[in-house]
Amino acid sequence: MAVNFSELAVEGVRSLRPYQPGKPIDELARELGLNEADIVKLASNENPLGPSPKALEAIKAELADLTRYPDGAGFVLKKTLSEKLSIAPEQITLGNGSSDILDFIVRVFVNDGDSVVFSQHAFAIYGLVAKMVGAESIVTPAKEYGHDLEAMASAINDRTRIVFVTNPNNPTGTWNTRDELVNFLNEVPAHVIVLLDEAYFEYVHEADYPDGISLLKDYPNLVVTRTFSKAYGLASLRVGYGVSSPELADLMNRVRPPFNVDSFALAAANATLLDEDYVKESIALNDAGMAYLTGEFDALGLAYIPSVGNFISFKVPDGVNAMDVYNGLLRQGVIVRPVANYEMPEYLRVSIGTEAENTAFITALKTVLS
Ligand SMILES: *Cc1c(COP(=O)(O)O)cnc(C)c1O
Repeated sequence: MAVNFSELAVEGVRSLRPYQPGKPIDELARELGLNEADIVKLASNENPLGPSPKALEAIKAELADLTRYPDGAGFVLKKTLSEKLSIAPEQITLGNGSSDILDFIVRVFVNDGDSVVFSQHAFAIYGLVAKMVGAESIVTPAKEYGHDLEAMASAINDRTRIVFVTNPNNPTGTWNTRDELVNFLNEVPAHVIVLLDEAYFEYVHEADYPDGISLLKDYPNLVVTRTFSKAYGLASLRVGYGVSSPELADLMNRVRPPFNVDSFALAAANATLLDEDYVKESIALNDAGMAYLTGEFDALGLAYIPSVGNFISFKVPDGVNAMDVYNGLLRQGVIVRPVANYEMPEYLRVSIGTEAENTAFITALKTVLS
């Protein structure tokens, strides 16, 4: 008899559904018979500027060492990060994308039958990594699409090991103030880990937006994650990091696979960290694009959730199906992101692109809605 391997898979995996990424450019090009160059992808919050030239140079310099394993300890990148962030290298855990860190923290602390807490409309990976280890996900209702941190603290039960806070959150672009975060951290029991996901940290200008790393000294249960996939423009290379106490970093480094970040990623991340002009330019481009898009949404009478990230979720007009708008935009060669799986069926999320990409998106949107 044929073996049914699906039935043999561990329970958390049997009910797991893979993460749904934004539609790739080459896939749509094949489907529409278009050139990849004619397609505008604003679906995965990628940096539209292209990589830093310094990153490209650093990668070229690594090519000759392709036969060697990378530095598993990430010495150079950790040193640069520690200087830039005024932390010790021992506080850093490097990830193959910051998503890796979410997986590590769950594997370090969460047993089958434990629970994790996160907000409605929060980033999808938290539920996935929790399910994988058989944990219960406690999802608290959002407040005007943002995290209700008081409700999240109240939802913690005897089995809760981790609370995931995304600041700002994806796909809503909402954020919490320093006071809200500190009040929350004061409420969370000392043995419960708070994973503060700051993937969009660099884009936020709000004066009362907190820097999670500055709170580490007061809250030993805090882990802050950041990434090179967004403002640093290196999504393809998969590199991110966690910052925590050395004790938590030591635990996470025990479950981290050896060589989880490759030489090109290490070198490019380090070079982009040192290229401050690149990051400034990325942020300025984002600010201009955000102003343009919100202006156009206002002019079109489309509601949107004010966002401090490099993306924005807008509401399709009443009586219009968001998937129809999504598919209509695809036919115009523009890829945005449906967010029905984030319980936002009447919204679409669009990443901020270059000026030309943003204009192409608005032109296509007007066509689809007319
Ligand atoms: C994009 C994103 C990340 C980054 O993922 P990487 O694995 O670092 O590419 C993390 N958290 C949120 C909320 C994101 O939107």
